[in-house]
Amino acid sequence: MRNSKNINTIYLDMDGVICDFCGACKEIDAIEHYKVDWEKVHAAGIDFWSNMAWTKEGQKFYKWLEKFCDEEGIDLCILSQVNYNDGVNGKIEWLMANTKIPNKNIYIVKTGKAKAKYANNQSLLIDDFGKNIEAFVLAGGFGIKFESAGQTKQALLELLG
Ligand SMILES: [Mg+2]
Repeated sequence: MRNSKNINTIYLDMDGVICDFCGACKEIDAIEHYKVDWEKVHAAGIDFWSNMAWTKEGQKFYKWLEKFCDEEGIDLCILSQVNYNDGVNGKIEWLMANTKIPNKNIYIVKTGKAKAKYANNQSLLIDDFGKNIEAFVLAGGFGIKFESAGQTKQALLELLG
């Protein structure tokens, strides 16, 4: 590894980072004051997930991260959370349609907490949910809380520089 922290794997969250989960909820009128109506989301089936739009900066950020990991010899993985089959299948469909990520680099877990199982002293999680980052760091990994593409890039370059 060339980077100073010896990080060999970056785990990337989907919803709120590269996928516009809130936008998709709004489209089916399934969100009010940040509260998601899961009945409506479930009723929307696989398509809810597979047709999701990229976040505003998501596609550009993903392409940058893909190239960065490639150049640094870091394995880029998706680490996303959803707890029912249509959700898992829809997310995989989305990744197949929108990215070139190999199957072996896709991890979909049932709870946010389960993301911490992938933490070690050579792995880093990028996630927009602070609690996921806290748990990952507590479990011995590195974490960057995604707030914007620019801030995350900066944090990554500083950490690995
Ligand atoms: Mg998220």
